[in-house]
Amino acid sequence: MLPALDALIALQDLDTRAEAARRRLADAPVKVAALDATLAGATQALDKAKAALAESQAARRELEREASAAEQKVSKYKDQLMQAKDNKQFHALQHEIATFSAEQQRVEELEIGRMLEIDERAAVVKAAEATLAAEKTRVAAEKRALEADAATASAELATLLAGRGEVAKTIDARLLSTYETVAKQRKGTGIARVVDGLCEACRVRLRPHLYNQVRAGDQVIQCESCVRILYWIAPPKTDDAPAEPTPAS
Ligand SMILES: [Zn+2]
Repeated sequence: MLPALDALIALQDLDTRAEAARRRLADAPVKVAALDATLAGATQALDKAKAALAESQAARRELEREASAAEQKVSKYKDQLMQAKDNKQFHALQHEIATFSAEQQRVEELEIGRMLEIDERAAVVKAAEATLAAEKTRVAAEKRALEADAATASAELATLLAGRGEVAKTIDARLLSTYETVAKQRKGTGIARVVDGLCEACRVRLRPHLYNQVRAGDQVIQCESCVRILYWIAPPKTDDAPAEPTPAS
């Protein structure tokens, strides 16, 4: 094979790895944002649970006030009962006592309902607090891992780019330019292997004449379909798999 093709294969490998490193670097802030969103969601859930609990507690305090007010009235009318001047007043006071006793009982029942609700909502707050704490720990760990990975990717990228510079120096300027132009047009791949007569990148079958030229490896051939530079590597010979047959010219 032409040394230039070997150099291009090495270049393609470096470029592919560099692209992967770039993608890792670009993905890191996106992943961090997703982690922050998860945390914000857990914080919001806790805030909501706390607000619901506070609402139940305020409602219960209000009921307590109402019950106590009713109780005071009952007690006041009971005192007045002793000093009733006549039967009419006595009955009127008894009526008031019955009314406010009923009111006190009604409010106390509502209070029991609120107390049960407070227990339930307090449990929700506790669970939301536990979830938030667990999420904080998980997010912190994942962020540390992402930071470490980004640092590794950054270092890898620097090494790959330095290596690329060295390899690129050994390639003829026109050939390098062809590779780079094709790579830009073809999702970063400027060179493709030919396997079983097919361009491995675009899966189009080479004409036999072209296939022979690629196999010879003594000139630069581009795929007629995807224009990638083509190369061929002899498959390893095994006992039960015959060598790739040479196509007719
Ligand atoms: Zn092709």
